[in-house]
Amino acid sequence: MPKTVLVVDDSAMMRKVFINNLTAAGLVVNVLESPNGQDALEKFKGGGIDCVLSDWNMPIMDGITLVREIRKCDPAKRVTIIMITTEGSPDKVKEAVLAGANNYLVKPFTPERFKEKLSKVLA
Ligand SMILES: [Mg+2]
Repeated sequence: MPKTVLVVDDSAMMRKVFINNLTAAGLVVNVLESPNGQDALEKFKGGGIDCVLSDWNMPIMDGITLVREIRKCDPAKRVTIIMITTEGSPDKVKEAVLAGANNYLVKPFTPERFKEKLSKVLA
């Protein structure tokens, strides 16, 4: 059964990049897309999501708030959350991990780096 991945970014082009990288990495997944944290949270609450790839800076609800809201519903961390963002400072990485993110990928990333992070989660 393929995993279901929710791809969250306010840039439609970036969402496409994530999806292309999932495909290029040979990871067979079902994909859902959201343009902001609020839309993503609604989709998450609909159930069936195995993994969330989320941007940090988005309108309406940002990625760090999304992580906190998901963890309120999922304190056992059944869902894997990976932040993918230009916010690569150690303080930001620490903040994301404390909020409940499992892993972190800084933009821009190479296909190899993306595959390395995602294949562990989605294999
Ligand atoms: Mg953004």
